[in-house]
Amino acid sequence: MSTETIEFQAEARQLLRLMIHSIYSNKDVFLRELISNASDALDKVRLAAYQDKELGAETDDPHVELVPDAEARTLTVRDNGIGMTRDEVVELIGTIAKSGTAELLAKLQEAGDGDQARELIGQFGIGFYSSFMVADRVELTTRKAGTDGGVRWESDGEGSYTIADVADAPQGTAVTLHLKASDAEDQMHDYADRSVVRRIVKTYSDFITWPIRMTPEAPAEEAEDGENATPEPETLNSMQALWARSQKDVSDAEYAEFYRHVSHDWQEPLETIRLAAEGTFEYQALLFLPQVAPMDLYMRDARRGVQLYVRRVFIMDDCEALVPEYLRFVKGVVDAADLSLNVSREILQQDRQISAIRRRLVKKVLSTIGTLRDEQPEKYATFWEQFGRALKEGLLSDQDNQETILGVCSFASTHATDAPTTLAAYKERMKEGQEAVYYMTGDSRTAIESSPHMEAFRDKGYEVLLLTDPVDEVWVDAVEGFDGTPFRSIAKGQVDLETEADKEKAEEQKAEFAGLCEWMAGVLSDDVKEVRVSSRLTTSPACLVGDELDMTPTLEKMYRAMGQEPPKVQRILELNPSHPLVTGLRDTQAEGASDTLAESAELLHGMALLAEGGELTDPSRFVGLLSARLQNSL
Ligand code: ADP
Ligand code: MG
Repeated sequence: MSTETIEFQAEARQLLRLMIHSIYSNKDVFLRELISNASDALDKVRLAAYQDKELGAETDDPHVELVPDAEARTLTVRDNGIGMTRDEVVELIGTIAKSGTAELLAKLQEAGDGDQARELIGQFGIGFYSSFMVADRVELTTRKAGTDGGVRWESDGEGSYTIADVADAPQGTAVTLHLKASDAEDQMHDYADRSVVRRIVKTYSDFITWPIRMTPEAPAEEAEDGENATPEPETLNSMQALWARSQKDVSDAEYAEFYRHVSHDWQEPLETIRLAAEGTFEYQALLFLPQVAPMDLYMRDARRGVQLYVRRVFIMDDCEALVPEYLRFVKGVVDAADLSLNVSREILQQDRQISAIRRRLVKKVLSTIGTLRDEQPEKYATFWEQFGRALKEGLLSDQDNQETILGVCSFASTHATDAPTTLAAYKERMKEGQEAVYYMTGDSRTAIESSPHMEAFRDKGYEVLLLTDPVDEVWVDAVEGFDGTPFRSIAKGQVDLETEADKEKAEEQKAEFAGLCEWMAGVLSDDVKEVRVSSRLTTSPACLVGDELDMTPTLEKMYRAMGQEPPKVQRILELNPSHPLVTGLRDTQAEGASDTLAESAELLHGMALLAEGGELTDPSRFVGLLSARLQNSL
């Protein structure tokens, strides 16, 4: 195929523009990104060659080579790794496939180029494009391991790139940056300068487990006797895996760089977690909690972030056997000593050692979150805001750790206005005689707080958790309680806030309203299964409540949003015995029912539905009835 000129995908073009106009203040990191890609490519070719002996990949001396050329003002980063096919170059380099990219770019545009933009851009794995921060032209030549022809890609990062086949490319990828003239003056950032390159590699890429070599300067001229052979290339990195080094010898900055390498994030980690086991089954783990959730955290194909190594050899990315889905935001590395290099994902799922590691990782991550909660409330708050929703999924999927997860969760509550409350703190505030942790689920804090179900609880000063995440609708039914105290929805079942005296009165009221309740249940039989006197209302005339196991209105809406029709739930209509509308209905009904009275019952039911944010089945009928009443009152 001849040379083709191809436009960058719109998102890619936008991102490139941001890169070129240097949204990121520290340009040096472009080299870290290119080395990181080269290192991944070396990991991949080793694995590919191991899995397919017929592949014909070259794996003799895997390394990264840096070639600064002061005269030509170029820097080349070359690897003899896996390489890319022509299609892969177009797909991987010419487009950004990540879901949510368009939304994020829109936010970025809004944010301008301040700190906020820098923070947002951290959510991309923009890696390769950072070359354009320092180069006004980039060439990439690559040949996929096990194939014959190579590919040359070239771009100035503006709107398009060219791509052409080449005959004689070595295996792997070489990226040549034609450095911007503007950086040449700046001694610290002249990337054709060997000492600058040396410093950057030491700072950002020392832990890379493959040798990063710098090609020496060509000797000025060949000596007469030919003794002056080309000097040896210099290896710039120590190649020591961070997780294998003693904890006290690794600086926070080194951890941060390693985190960036494994996570493709640009920021520092929120927290670093190390653990190790020795003896018959040896492993080391170096894990991180990020500061910001990736864009796709809540999308269906979100990947898990822990890599598996076996004795320093990279085995796989996104190792789902090592972390449960609800901890998919945890990044890092597990290096296990006694696994076969040839393990597959399927085998790992059933491996007893891997399950043991996984159990321990989960416990350690949860206890770390607990420590943050107790000792670093600000970090904990960041964590919770970014990852709380994911963590709560564990209440459903990880029965064994349910209580621990609950303990590190926090929730919005009527009594905690600045920050969400933990359950332990809720329990401390419980009133004398209070037997349950009260909660209500709904669309928003305001919707819940103004729902009629809250009235008696507010009146009596009981604290209610306000649960507004979709996942809250589900876990509340799966969790028995916390630390011996059951959870109870204030919108379900009977409430029991009464004193003995109240109870007697309630019995009397029940008798007083029995006739009305029975008649209304008949009139509204399509919509409700029972009508009864309420003890949870102070100002509203009526509200709807579910039975313990009934689906909530929010859950019904969620089903509809997913395109499923939920089974029809008939709820219970509760009446406020001290509301004039209700006593009025009772008195009129006692004298004899009529069509008008039946319409009043219908209106009352519709009002209760609206008050909790529900949806009327026949809004136009409701409006018709209401406007007729209003006309009569004029
Ligand atoms: P990321 O590394 O976060 O995926 P990059 O922009 O750095 O994003 O790279 C995009 C993709 O291009 C990589 O995932 C990889 O598949 C491919 N790639 C980049 N550099 C190389 C390389 N040196 N060798 C092989 N593939 C590469
Ligand atoms: Mg990368």
